[in-house]
Amino acid sequence: MASSARDRLSVIQHHLIARKADKHDEPSQTATTGTSCNSCNKETHCCSGNLSGNSGLEQCKIGWQAVSSKPGGSEPSGDVTTQTIPLKRQEILKWNGWGYKDSKFLVHKEKEYYVSFSGRRYKIGSMVLPHFATWVIDTLGVNFNDCTPPQPLPKPQDYPEPIIKEEFLNAVQNLGITHSLDGEDRLFRAHGHTLAEIFVLREGMFPRLPDLVVWPTNHGQVEKIVDLACRYQVVLIPIGGGTSVSGALLCPEEESRMIVSLDTSQMCRILWLDEKNLTARIEAGIIGQDLERQLQARGYTTGHEPDSYEFSSLGGWVATRASGMKKNIYGNIEDLLVQVKVVTPRGNVERYTAGPRLSAGPDVQHFIMGSEGTLGVITEVTMKVRPLPQVQRYGSIVFPNFTSGVNCMREVALHRCQPASIRLLDNEQFKFG
Ligand SMILES: Cc1cc2nc3c(=O)[nH]c(=O)nc-3n(C[C@H](O)[C@H](O)[C@H](O)COP(=O)(O)OP(=O)(O)OC[C@H]3O[C@@H](n4cnc5c(N)ncnc54)[C@H](O)[C@@H]3O)c2cc1C
Repeated sequence: MASSARDRLSVIQHHLIARKADKHDEPSQTATTGTSCNSCNKETHCCSGNLSGNSGLEQCKIGWQAVSSKPGGSEPSGDVTTQTIPLKRQEILKWNGWGYKDSKFLVHKEKEYYVSFSGRRYKIGSMVLPHFATWVIDTLGVNFNDCTPPQPLPKPQDYPEPIIKEEFLNAVQNLGITHSLDGEDRLFRAHGHTLAEIFVLREGMFPRLPDLVVWPTNHGQVEKIVDLACRYQVVLIPIGGGTSVSGALLCPEEESRMIVSLDTSQMCRILWLDEKNLTARIEAGIIGQDLERQLQARGYTTGHEPDSYEFSSLGGWVATRASGMKKNIYGNIEDLLVQVKVVTPRGNVERYTAGPRLSAGPDVQHFIMGSEGTLGVITEVTMKVRPLPQVQRYGSIVFPNFTSGVNCMREVALHRCQPASIRLLDNEQFKFG
């Protein structure tokens, strides 16, 4: 296609998922951000407990041997695998950017500048991207001769001293809950992934970091941490994948109480899969890619694919009312969620009906979705699952102009014939993608 012609074109990319015939498509209190803690009667940022090197750094084992079957459901079986993201995330993830350490754009210079992508995780891995440098220069006005390299990772002595509530720390130690006072662990959990937050990592420092990181391994440990936080007036901030774009993971600068980052990543088992009702009970810290890999090995999917799903967690999806790329077929998180279990400062919240909806009374689960950790810690979720599609088709349609593309999108919506995912791109996005 001539580039002049391409410049005039708009493109719809669609992502068509043909589904399998789907006949049975059914399926105390701890203070949290901005809530009042009953025992201390103070506003808390999620009230509640070193990775001291020896504290049982066990990788969360996930897989079917770790699960029990739901009564009436089919017996899960299969391999035990380890989670993709280790407890020490910094081992494989960038500390000041998005994604894996080994996957990044590299700028080279021979006669001209050119760009390649490192690593072998993605299709563009170890490939030269011949037009990318020109596009970046022409479109973004980037000058490769004028680089400002980011600051290095702070040294251990450069991190602010943690504020420690001794009683809380001792209690966490006595309970044998994995924890860490290490600066890197605290920094990794002090932010989400907005451009502004990444800029701070590259150029500055957050005014306040969590003082301690705790890694509970199950609902019971979360209850204990939350109870201790209430008792000792400690602030809790739950974190799943850390891909937040709402700023909710940032610690308030003026907070003088101990702030504890409650990392859910070790709560990552699929507890059961009910193949009759097409539901699964899953711990909230599981990362999207691990969840899908395990379900797909059994022939199922949730179909929930936010763009961040490689790194974001189930609990994070619920806490942020996440939307997935394939929502046209599978729905958003509010359509997929059947039950959610939350540890709050006033005890556990869980609706004890496993049906997808009830007509009686307001649905408390709708308060949980989008609550961003302010009401409690989500520990377990029952989700709808579906059989994997028999066919997946991907395709693109090229339009003579953007208006024709918009008109087509309207027709598709009008006739309710959306594929799982459909996006209208303009020329700049098309060239970039
Ligand atoms: C590149 C990129 C692409 C993205 N694409 C999408 C997208 O397609 N759709 C979309 O909806 N969002 C998207 N997001 C935003 C983000 O990924 C979502 O909000 C995601 O749901 C956050 O999940 P997480 O596990 O990373 O949560 P975190 O970032 O760890 O936490 C987010 C919030 O939820 C709270 N929280 C986390 N876990 C729990 C828990 N177990 N209990 C209680 N509170 C908890 C935290 O305290 C915080 O307030 C994107 C972000 C990025 C950076």
